Amino acid sequence: MSIKCSFCGIDQSECRWIFSSSTSNGKHYICDKCIGKISSQIEELKLEYPEEKAFLTPSVIKSKLDSYVIGQDRAKKILSVAVYNHYKRLRKRNAGVEIQKSNILLIGSTGCGKTYLAQTLARILDVPFVICDATGLTQAGYVGKDVEECLSSLLKKADGSIEKAQTGIVYIDEIDKLARVGESSAQRDVSGEGVQQALLKLLEGHVISIPVGDKKSPFTSTVDIDTSNILFICGGAFDGIQKKIEPEKTIGFGHAIPKINEFSYNEIESSDLVKYGLTPELTGRLPVIASLDGLDENALVRILVEPKNSIVSQYKELLKMDNVSLDFEQDALVEIARTALRKKTGARGLRSIMESTMTDIMFEAPDIVCEDTYEIRITKDMVKGGGRIG
Ligand code: ADP
Repeated sequence: MSIKCSFCGIDQSECRWIFSSSTSNGKHYICDKCIGKISSQIEELKLEYPEEKAFLTPSVIKSKLDSYVIGQDRAKKILSVAVYNHYKRLRKRNAGVEIQKSNILLIGSTGCGKTYLAQTLARILDVPFVICDATGLTQAGYVGKDVEECLSSLLKKADGSIEKAQTGIVYIDEIDKLARVGESSAQRDVSGEGVQQALLKLLEGHVISIPVGDKKSPFTSTVDIDTSNILFICGGAFDGIQKKIEPEKTIGFGHAIPKINEFSYNEIESSDLVKYGLTPELTGRLPVIASLDGLDENALVRILVEPKNSIVSQYKELLKMDNVSLDFEQDALVEIARTALRKKTGARGLRSIMESTMTDIMFEAPDIVCEDTYEIRITKDMVKGGGRIG
């Protein structure tokens, strides 16, 4: 008996695959061509009628962040609440009271996880995400990247869907580098301040036209993106901010002069950012400030092993494919953390230290001849001198 697709009637011999399903009414068939057609129709419908996303509460967002980002509890809490409010605001768009948008500023030293936090958040929320480096941006009319290019990248990440892009997250790194150099107008860093002005337009929430298609073509078309629902997260180290704040805090009789190590990033307020050189307008658009702690030895060791997808678990997995069981002595992990601390690169340096420890082992492992699983234990000395097998 010849089998035919119950949808298009094509014979089994004319298609590559045919799938069957049995019900009480008998057997039904569908060919691969019909499946392809239906799948693309479903994709179109999904774009037309986007699914209402489950509303994640701050505690759920934080616990999801906890699986990836070690420590930084306060920052994770602030971020979770801000994001919850942001998406709550989107749902209440047509209500009588208009809730203003709250973009976020993350402050913390290099490699403490600012970008990673923003990126993880976007992954949890399943929204498009882009990173823009503020130092590469220029004000309109200057050579360089216009701020609007952040939106073009976001649109690309959203597979060209304007709706999707309009609910995405843009992370603007090194915002502190746009600070004015000095207070007198002669010293002002004009381009830095110009970029701050240009960014303001994005952060405030405006409809902005961005070019699409080939930039070199004289017939580039544009699309309008409304930035009111895009969440902007800015990040910066704000090196030396304590020196700029302290003079005022220590002036006058009877005021104790705070020691440098008493300074806490947690105390930074919008007015301090203005003293640092950000414009009052821009700081006004970044009302949520979260500071991240510098990572100490203990935090770095935890980062090596604890997160889902941690660096240690990734190397274990890689070597498992060569039938090698990899283990790390605690001292070895501490040595990796100490080396990263010496390099002052925060957690960013961990991977390259691990890579140089593991290079020889990964080179030799595939050639090991062993019937059972071969065990390798990484010691402190191996971290110091590069690892070798046996
Ligand atoms: P920053 O933006 O603050 O300079 P990153 O977010 O780029 O630092 O951090 C560099 C890398 O270090 C990240 O990609 C991540 O793998 C790791 N990392 C940094 N901080 C943390 C943390 N708190 N928990 C887990 N991993 C972290």
